[in-house]
Amino acid sequence: MSLLVIGSAAFDSIQTPSGSREKVIGGSGVYAAFAASFFTPARLVSVVGEDWPDDYTARLQKRNIDLEGLEIRSGAQTLAWTGKYFENLNDRETLDIRLNVMGEEYSPLVPESYRESDFVLLANGSPVSHLDLLAKMTAKPRLTVADTMDFYIQNCPDPLRELLPQIDGLILNDSEARLLTGEKNTITAARRILEMGPTFVIVKKGENGAFYLSRRAIRLIPAYPSEKVVDPTGAGDSFAGALLGALAASGRSDPESIIAAMARATVVAGYTVEGFSLERLETLTEGEIESRLAAFRTMITF
Ligand code: AMP
Repeated sequence: MSLLVIGSAAFDSIQTPSGSREKVIGGSGVYAAFAASFFTPARLVSVVGEDWPDDYTARLQKRNIDLEGLEIRSGAQTLAWTGKYFENLNDRETLDIRLNVMGEEYSPLVPESYRESDFVLLANGSPVSHLDLLAKMTAKPRLTVADTMDFYIQNCPDPLRELLPQIDGLILNDSEARLLTGEKNTITAARRILEMGPTFVIVKKGENGAFYLSRRAIRLIPAYPSEKVVDPTGAGDSFAGALLGALAASGRSDPESIIAAMARATVVAGYTVEGFSLERLETLTEGEIESRLAAFRTMITF
């Protein structure tokens, strides 16, 4: 079934204990669509400036990502993010963020052919643009999932509150769940989020894994025990992309399918962090995903 991803396409400048990179390809939409592409072709809605290199577009085309929805705006500059990770690799600091073409007035161009997508992922980006995109869909998607981050919880609280009743699921990390609700306990925070609208919430807890919560069930999934973490950037976005990609491939959106898709998402995110930017995902094969998934399944069975 079809999958639409809206999110940022960006220049990332990254410092980690393993090294640094300048202006490499990144962005929530880029990571999410790339990760989804291992399961199903994704339609990407995003916007970049005229400084976006053709080579970056070609790298997305290589994975069969549909780029009809990638707007290249002349006279504008691409979103640029600079981040630094600390020794433990779980904590990072944003040193600089220039939203540029993705600033407040960004209204996504949604091609006619995308307006009836079955699955929709609202990857990290402004909730104003997410609301705008949902209003442009001509048919209600079977499943709409949003990912959010501290930046938008702090800067766009009202549009985010307006978005929550319009989505089926919300993905965020534990500190963001606490920030959104003011609750200290992560499970309590997740329950509060359910009261705000979505029917399920997935809370990521870094190397402690993630949990799924709905009104009827709670399920836990550990993180893949990676020994090689080079650059954590995009782990969250590729988790969300692989999750929706796996669901769209199966055509299902029931809780058991979501939990099975979380295992695949965990495995793909574990690969993302093994290299800078898209480096590791660009060499990743479906066979590698399947073999790690089999190993992961053995690890969590008892
Ligand atoms: P993650 O590591 O999964 O949280 O996502 C990191 C990605 O999010 C990077 O590739 C950044 O370019 C992108 N990013 C950072 N800040 C923003 C923002 N305010 N809006 C959209 N994307 C962002």
